[in-house]
Order: sequence, then C-alpha cells, then structure tokens
Amino acid sequence: MENTKKHFGIYGGQYVPEILMNAIDELEKAYAFYREDPEFIETFNQLLQDYAGRPSRLYFAKEMTRDLNGAKIYLKREDLNHTGAHKINNVLGQALLAQKMGKKRLIAETGAGQHGVATATVAALMKMPCEIYMGEEDMKRQALNVYRMRLLGAKVVPVISGTASLKDAVSAAMAEWAKHLEDTHYCLGSATGPHPFPTMVRDFQSDISKEMKEQILSKEGKLPDVVMACVGGGANAIGSFYHFIKDKAVRLIGCEGAGQGIDSLKSAATMNIGSPGIFHGMKSYFCQNDYGQIAPVYSISAGLDYPGIGPEHAYLHDIHRAQYVPVTDEEAVLAFEYLAKMEGIIPAIESAHAIAYAMKLAPKMRKDQIIIVTLSGRGDKDCAALARYRGEMLYE
Ligand SMILES: *Cc1c(COP(=O)(O)O)cnc(C)c1O
Repeated sequence: MENTKKHFGIYGGQYVPEILMNAIDELEKAYAFYREDPEFIETFNQLLQDYAGRPSRLYFAKEMTRDLNGAKIYLKREDLNHTGAHKINNVLGQALLAQKMGKKRLIAETGAGQHGVATATVAALMKMPCEIYMGEEDMKRQALNVYRMRLLGAKVVPVISGTASLKDAVSAAMAEWAKHLEDTHYCLGSATGPHPFPTMVRDFQSDISKEMKEQILSKEGKLPDVVMACVGGGANAIGSFYHFIKDKAVRLIGCEGAGQGIDSLKSAATMNIGSPGIFHGMKSYFCQNDYGQIAPVYSISAGLDYPGIGPEHAYLHDIHRAQYVPVTDEEAVLAFEYLAKMEGIIPAIESAHAIAYAMKLAPKMRKDQIIIVTLSGRGDKDCAALARYRGEMLYE
C-alpha cells in the first residue's frame, strides 16, 4: 500500500467541524500505523478469505459476448461475497481497525440498507454494539433490509431531517460520532468523506483490482482494454480501478445513475451535472444549485442516489485518467433483465448501470479486445422494486 496522503490533486482534505478533528486525527494516525502492520494485514486477509469468500470470481460472460458480437466481456463477481456485495470488504477492514483502536461500538449510515446490513453483520461477528442511521423514507422503501439489520442485532435509527435519505443519514451519523468519540467508530460506507476515509476505503476495496489483474493475466495473458464499474460514492469503482491506474492503456469508466436523464431534474450523475464544492468533510464534485446548496438527487438505484462522489474520482476525472458516463433508469432496468436472461445472473440495480454501458460499448470494440465489468452486488434486494417499475405488485 502506498503512503497515506490527504489530497488527490485539489480534492479531498478534512473539512470537518472542530469537534470532529480529534477523532479524524486519531483515525488517521491509527490507519497510517495499521495499514503497514503485518498482523493487521494478515487478520484482514484471513477474514476476507474465510468470512467474505474472497477472492471473488472473474467470470467470462460467454453468452453476453456472443450476443453483443464485439469485445470479450468478463464479470468481476462481487455479488458472490457474503451479504451480496462489495460492502463487506470495507466493513471488515474498518471494524478490525476500530477494535485495534479500542473502540467498543460501531455506527454507520445506510441508503438502501446494503452498507447497514454489512456493518450489522460484522458487528455481530465481532460482538460490537451497532447503530445504523437510515432515512425514514429509505426505511419504508427497504423494509426487508431494516428487518435484516435488526435480526443481526443492530439498532436502526430513523433520520427525519432534510429529504430523509442517504445524505441526511451521513450527516446524522457524523453528528452522533461527534457525541461519542471515546468509544465509537463511524464506519463510513464509501470512498467519500474526510481523509483518511477515501484512502482507507479505497485500500480496503482494492483487492478487487488486484485480483482482477491476476485473474485476467492468467486467463488471457494480457491486461483488459476497459475496466468499468458503477459509481455511487465510488467505493467499488475505485477498488476496481486502483491497480490499473498506472496502466495507461486500460480505459477506466465509471457509470453514474442518471435517473430520468441528465437534462431532467431527476438525476444523480454527479460528474456529469455537478461542479466542485465542499460537503460531508471533503472537496469534490457535488450536485448543487447556483447558490452552492446541495441539490436533491434521484436514481432508481438507492445505492447511486448520492449528490457527491469520492475525491479520488474527481481527480481522475480532471486529469482525464477515468471517464464518467451517465446511465438512465430505463437503460439500467433493461440491463438488469438482460443479464438475468442472458447469463442467469441477477445483478444489483446499481451494477446493472455498468452492464448497460458495457452493452453499448462492446459492439463497437474488436473481438480481441476485453472489457471487465464489476458486478458490485446481487439483485435479489431489487426484485420487488423492479417488478413495481414494470407495473407488477409483488409482496415480500
Ligand atoms: C452501495 C452500493 C453501490 C454504490 O456504492 P459505491 O460506493 O459507489 O460502490 C453499488 N453497488 C452496490 C451493490 C451497492 O450495494
């Protein structure tokens, strides 16, 4: 792992209220120490392997490749991890670090409930009390995940401020952290927020690209032409990109939730409609109005429904190392249904955004070229909402 640094170009930093500065300092120092500690690394790797189920598979999507008649498509199967997404990688790392720091309790924010479920899961494993902050609107939409978190022993705290969704849950969790710095670790779910979170979460997710590289070299004897992933805050995408950043011939593409389109008011495609600003402790791109107020965002996918993006992505965008493309709800839904029928794999609706862009890009590429798409999670959680999108009522 490379040296810890606070900024990515002009982005990142630690824009937090004074009251949080001590906690951020303590976390930064602890992470700088433990990321180099052989025993910490060994325990983390063991958990990734035995508990999360790593390494995840790199699967050649033969039917999709044949059907699209262009580049070869491989899927990085993060959906096969325990709890069904990439989130567990980061939570295992942070919970382990929290224990090393002597913290007794975990708190986290959640949107759709995936990060909340992963945190509640690891808290149960490590015998740590756990509180999950969740927008009241999201609690109604994701009742099953609320039940799962409670079953795992976590307390789910409804957040009623603002739009009662993900960004408000992050704000509420930060406020709670400030009140209980002594015994509590805030387990942030994406590569966002103040330093060291964007670096730490990226490192904990970077096995995705490390494995991808080894796997594609052993299967194809060469690097891929394109690596792509969906982007909410950007954790699974930066984990997928990280070990390819120096390989300039590999195109890196992040797929944003464009909702009803980037020209509509209902979108969450931060890099396509946003501009630089400061929020939730970091300088990055945000969806905001002319006065710099954070704008309400929308995507069919609760995991992509966030008005910002991690600072390392902002930097990769500005230096033209990675490209960020908008994908609409409708395109994602078609990709969700396509992958189910074509490969027998039901992707998370978030991941379906990346599948949708691969469906556009592959036919324009040569047959000896390779695309790797990160399948960030599985789609069981989305079936009821997708049925409703198609006008069918489905009761869980
Ligand atoms: C949370 C989530 C995302 C979005 O988060 P990132 O930080 O951008 O990775 C994407 N896919 C799935 C399945 C998720 O659960």
